[in-house]
Amino acid sequence: MKKLLMGNEAIALGAIRAGVRVVSGYPGTPSTEILETIAKEVSAARKGALEEGSSPAEKLSRIYIEWSVNEKAALELAAGAAMSGARSLVTMKQVGLNVASDPLMSLNYVGVKGGLVVAVADDPGPISSQTEQDTRRFGKFAKLMVFDPASPAEAYTMIADAFDWSEKYGRPVIFRPTTRVCHSYASVEILPDLPQKDIGVFEKSQRWVIFPGLAYRSHIQIEKDLIQLGDEFSAYSGNKLSVISGASPNAIHPPCAVSPRRGIAAGGVSRAYTHEVLAKLDTQPKPKAEFSPPDSNTAYKLLEVSTVPFPSKLGKEFLAGLDEVLVIEELDPVIEDELIRLCGLHHLNVKIRGKLSGDMPNAGENTVALIAEKINNFFGIPSSVTNSPTEASAEAPGRSSAPDIPALPVRPPVLCAGCPHRGSFFAVKEAVRKSGAGKNGQQGFPRKAVFSGDIGCYTLGNAMPLDMTDTCLCMGAGITVAQGINRAEPDTLNFAFIGDSTFFHTGIPGIVNAVYNQAKIIVVILDNYTTAMTGSQPHPGTGKSVLGSPAEKISIYDVVKALGVKDIVRANPFDIKVAEDAVTQMLDKKGVRVILFEGPCIAVEAGSGKCSITAAQCTGCRICVKKLGCPAISLVPTETASGSGLSEPVAGASDAGRPKLRALIDPVLCTGCGICKPVCPAGAIQ
Ligand code: SF4
Ligand code: SF4
Repeated sequence: MKKLLMGNEAIALGAIRAGVRVVSGYPGTPSTEILETIAKEVSAARKGALEEGSSPAEKLSRIYIEWSVNEKAALELAAGAAMSGARSLVTMKQVGLNVASDPLMSLNYVGVKGGLVVAVADDPGPISSQTEQDTRRFGKFAKLMVFDPASPAEAYTMIADAFDWSEKYGRPVIFRPTTRVCHSYASVEILPDLPQKDIGVFEKSQRWVIFPGLAYRSHIQIEKDLIQLGDEFSAYSGNKLSVISGASPNAIHPPCAVSPRRGIAAGGVSRAYTHEVLAKLDTQPKPKAEFSPPDSNTAYKLLEVSTVPFPSKLGKEFLAGLDEVLVIEELDPVIEDELIRLCGLHHLNVKIRGKLSGDMPNAGENTVALIAEKINNFFGIPSSVTNSPTEASAEAPGRSSAPDIPALPVRPPVLCAGCPHRGSFFAVKEAVRKSGAGKNGQQGFPRKAVFSGDIGCYTLGNAMPLDMTDTCLCMGAGITVAQGINRAEPDTLNFAFIGDSTFFHTGIPGIVNAVYNQAKIIVVILDNYTTAMTGSQPHPGTGKSVLGSPAEKISIYDVVKALGVKDIVRANPFDIKVAEDAVTQMLDKKGVRVILFEGPCIAVEAGSGKCSITAAQCTGCRICVKKLGCPAISLVPTETASGSGLSEPVAGASDAGRPKLRALIDPVLCTGCGICKPVCPAGAIQ
């Protein structure tokens, strides 16, 4: 049977099909739904509510699954399970791999028994990440195998291959989808579950204890294995070499009667895009002079690469007889490097065109349009050939043309209406301002204040008008960066903002460091009772497991106290006066101080009330808009407001001297959080 699946769902179901027994991870876009889908299946199995086509309930019920506190903990847990013979899966985004890199580097030397797949989702663009790092490069650095799927359907079967290769070589394997594979939907053929292998349990052995002697011996073996893998991967079904005649319709077939002089090499999701472009090239009529009859100028070779190590044998076969090659891949020039290396090694005079030669962009995502343009240039053909509509998208007979779709309005990311972080940031800003401290370079303030942020929704505190994030580096870094600034500039008032999930992830060591080294910082913990940025996953402070069952609830307040912080205050960020007083009382204390703002994310508990603005009282001063930036508040012409139905008419709107604009609250967006009420000097908000 076929199922319409998101790429991450396909990866999850593929892992279940392959017999995964232990699953751990930390949320991070674009990887999050892999673990969530497995949790959904396990949950449904336990409740007896499985859908048609699911794996057997008994098998699903045996899977252990958790959101770990961070990627390092997740990988170490999976390593233990794999040492015990269980097929294990760890999920994270690419920057999460930096956190997990310490155990991963060593684990390759120690090895595993059951297959261990580390699913690391890369984010070209980047769309929701701090970096555009390429996990294939990390795999090369760590001397690990990497599998790089091109589509949801391929990801579904390839993850089973990843488990097999992990067990074959007794080493962890990286599985690296990118955002467009993770989040696109496709019809995927659901295959029968694979037979379960029993490869035993944990057995006491020196092989699990990393010592320099073992590391030396392992390193020698790893290097041998990598060379062998270069050969073995040349025969792997995910790596393909095709020879295309360039003249016959649908002409992808090996081998071609003529000897092509040009080649295209592609990897990852760019393989799918390249196929789409080349399919048009093979089916469209070509300009005679260039494309008919087939000869060595019109024929070409296509190399598809989905693994690290690079399939060297296949690569050499690809390069044989070519004059030039266009390499299409996202992020780093990994395939390009390998082809250049092969040319040098085998004295091949082939021009490799890609990122290093400036023929392809060296940052950001690839698109079908971009690849079409590059392939057109490479073959020297008119853009109309590859840019023409595909059969599927061509206008159907009898249908009128679709109107041009207008460009979407630019909508910068902002904190949601009703977000507790808005109140927290506003309270800190106001208390600091009233104390006489100002931001760097701000006139009229005797003391400088610096606000260090962290990774989460609250990074959006950076946006105007709040403007409360002066630094943001990586998970957990806000607290330690604040300490560093304060060491360099001791008179500065240093704040560090951190969310609840990030606090558990990597925030705690920063507080320990601050207390131990007697730092002078104010840590503001923004507890909204969830991991909001990635879609409301639970964490140790929520009292819920990944399957929704009750779990031990760890109190952030108690942890902070236990870490030795003497001055801690809790406050409700929706009560601006209370929140501001809490900040003020911490300003002049010494040492490490913690303000714990506790208020639910709207995804956890949406407010049921609504606020509105009495039009007759609104002076149009815009203070509510300029200070808070709540997306539910907008400014409208007074005349429009009176007729909008969203609020009562504005008395005398057309009179001379009346404001031209007034504020209006959108009742659809407003949660009634009340943060804006005390901000209005006219008392117009109820
Ligand atoms: S609602 Fe209040 S703060 Fe907002 S524009 Fe009107 S008077 Fe000014
Ligand atoms: S009460 Fe005010 S701040 Fe809160 S969501 Fe409504 S408009 Fe926004």
